[in-house]
Amino acid sequence: MSYLFQNYMRADVEFIKANGNYLIDQTGRTYLDFSSGIGVTNLGFNKDVKKAVEQQLELIWHSPNIYKSFLQEKVAEKLIRTEDYVAFFCNSGTEANEAAIKLARKATGKSEIIAFEHSFHGRTYGSMSATGQEAIKFNFEPVVPGFKFAEFNNFSSFKSLVTKDTAAVMLELIQGESGVRPANKTFIQQLVKFCNQHHILLIIDEIQTGIGRTGKLFAYEHYDISPDIITLAKGLGNGIPVGALLGKRNISDAFGYGSHGTTFGGNRLAMAAALKTLETIEYSNFLESVYHKGEYLLNCLNKIFKDYLSVTDIRGKGLMIGIETTCNINEIVSNARTKGLIILTAGTNVIRLLPPLTITFEQIEEAVVILKECFNELSSD
Ligand SMILES: *Cc1c(COP(=O)(O)O)cnc(C)c1O
Repeated sequence: MSYLFQNYMRADVEFIKANGNYLIDQTGRTYLDFSSGIGVTNLGFNKDVKKAVEQQLELIWHSPNIYKSFLQEKVAEKLIRTEDYVAFFCNSGTEANEAAIKLARKATGKSEIIAFEHSFHGRTYGSMSATGQEAIKFNFEPVVPGFKFAEFNNFSSFKSLVTKDTAAVMLELIQGESGVRPANKTFIQQLVKFCNQHHILLIIDEIQTGIGRTGKLFAYEHYDISPDIITLAKGLGNGIPVGALLGKRNISDAFGYGSHGTTFGGNRLAMAAALKTLETIEYSNFLESVYHKGEYLLNCLNKIFKDYLSVTDIRGKGLMIGIETTCNINEIVSNARTKGLIILTAGTNVIRLLPPLTITFEQIEEAVVILKECFNELSSD
């Protein structure tokens, strides 16, 4: 008997230790991690981050947001890099999106937010209401009013939903949970131009794509755009829970004194972890190496699955890669695990690879060999 709600499908394995890019289970078996939690431990189980958290733990681990925080200032400065934005720290992705929705409504005085089909923005009421998947909202109605859903990568679908009460558009640049689907560049450019002309705020959910995942600090840098609001979480603290909202300084008055808040958000351990994570990512050519490793992984996958009828598409950016397949994805995940490789699914027909950004070329080769075996054993090719 379990004392837990059965809201997760848990595999019959428990990771009790970790070392770099490897996970170790209760029997002492080692697995190569191609999941980073779910896009969280982006630097693997990293000794520098561990040390930064330990050092902070020695000093003080909590101080409420009614006192100054040098660490929050430092982390914000690293995330922002210009004076155009300001930051608010929270504890999770869904909280960052809640803050984004509240900020957009208050800053514009308008209520409608256009999101996209197959999006994922979180599980609390606001973020769930912004999520374009019926299954996630099923039997939780009534949802928060004011959200509309356009077809992803379809500008005219978006445009047809705009009214004079449209406050913002909210999207992921690579839809993560629903199948690693990238937004195409012309779509984004049309969308952004239209939003600028009509004073509609642009909210980019970088919770999965941010913090180096795609080979840039933020995925929006691939699209030459400057969002009004950016939300972050997953990789930001390399596994220590933290979320963030970045908003343009010109709308920041809407979050004046008393308007929004959190008890734990921006806590010292999370900030120490985030600071070390960001320092590591911005060091030298770290992000370039992520980009090259991503290209290498994509090339290897394209090469080995070239003639597989069961592999219908391979796509992604940096180290966020999806393999669309007609095979049973859950069987592939569990087969890979028995061979010592941890991978993820996305949507109903995609194998999702989110290795730590610290993955090596040798580890990529190791994973590709295992993936090939898994597909060989399950597909009918
Ligand atoms: C994971 C995720 C969220 C939700 O983050 P939580 O920390 O689980 O609340 C929101 N948006 C995107 C794009 C995500 O990948």
